[in-house]
Amino acid sequence: MNVSPFSIKQQVPLADKNWFGTGGAARFYAEPSSVDDFSSSLEFARQKGLDLFVLGSGANILISDAGFDGLVLRPHNTSIMVTDRDSSKALVTAGAGVTIDALIAFCLDHQLLGLEELSGIPGTVGGSVFINIHYFEFFLSHFLVSARVVNVETGELMPVSRDWFAFGYDYSTLHARKHVLFDATFQLKIGTEIEAAYARGRSKEIDRHRRQRYPYKGTCGSFFRNFHDHEVTIVSNGKKMIYVAYYLDKLGIKGELSVGGAVVSHQHANMIVNKGNATSTDIATLARTMQERVLENFGIIPEPECQLVGFQGVGPLLALSARVQTTSSDVNKAKTAV
Ligand SMILES: Cc1cc2nc3c(=O)[nH]c(=O)nc-3n(C[C@H](O)[C@H](O)[C@H](O)COP(=O)(O)OP(=O)(O)OC[C@H]3O[C@@H](n4cnc5c(N)ncnc54)[C@H](O)[C@@H]3O)c2cc1C
Repeated sequence: MNVSPFSIKQQVPLADKNWFGTGGAARFYAEPSSVDDFSSSLEFARQKGLDLFVLGSGANILISDAGFDGLVLRPHNTSIMVTDRDSSKALVTAGAGVTIDALIAFCLDHQLLGLEELSGIPGTVGGSVFINIHYFEFFLSHFLVSARVVNVETGELMPVSRDWFAFGYDYSTLHARKHVLFDATFQLKIGTEIEAAYARGRSKEIDRHRRQRYPYKGTCGSFFRNFHDHEVTIVSNGKKMIYVAYYLDKLGIKGELSVGGAVVSHQHANMIVNKGNATSTDIATLARTMQERVLENFGIIPEPECQLVGFQGVGPLLALSARVQTTSSDVNKAKTAV
């Protein structure tokens, strides 16, 4: 008899499965690979009335110290293949559990170009499509042409086109949490051998540059998302100042502001780093202090890009609903502070 290795485990620690290295355990935990595995885990959650959280490589999440009182699903479908090609372009399909670095390496091995601009960004295909990862002007959504998602309610696999995702900055339809990404198909340019060699060099260079410039361990990358144009009033060089790091930088908190074992990186004002002994509560409290300082000085509240898991609502963070209408005195105060 063919016995599937797939099983749902209980009380599985999550601290070793996220980049902050903090947080408690999952009450239930599964690593589905096949569509059947996905469907049966979702059925299990439905029958028991459990909350669901889909975990990638944990590079953009903060898990509560109390853990997650539901089912954590960590997609483990890790196949990558060239599914179609003509003389100039090819389609590559990658499972949700494939890491972005593995996908880029596969593409470069097959002389398929474009994704190397996203080199060095930690994460899986699932988490990266969820947030539409970006680096400077390059967005993952530029390459995605179609995907397959599993409906959380019915467990059914559904093919979807790029438009279905309604991609934006830090956004995709997956945020509604009604579907889990099963796999995604990317369209890439077929390069010559020389172009592929150049792309490999560029990939290494981007990765090296990122590791030198930003913290790479014990962090989720940028903790807060940049502001939208309509959320800010400060203008610099004729442009709305949307970069959250601009405001955080002005506070002089880099390498200075800390709570317990969590500190604002000395390299980047929008990155929080676990010095080694931080708890998730330390990290969340530090993030809230950063929000409060920005609010006091600029009248705006940074919103987390980092997904909070197992907290009630936004947990200890300032709720967006508390966002104050920027008054003219706030703006004057902000101008003075800048
Ligand atoms: C050092 C560092 C640098 C970073 N630099 C960048 C950067 O330059 N640009 C950038 O955009 N991001 C950056 N990030 C953030 C992070 O790399 C991305 O958000 C990445 O996509 C997270 O992928 P993950 O698999 O780890 O997702 P996780 O952190 O595990 O999950 C993130 C979200 O995705 C959801 N999710 C995961 N898998 C699925 C799935 N299969 N279906 C549906 N939802 C799913 C989760 O439920 C969660 O809400 C950085 C992070 C770190 C630690």
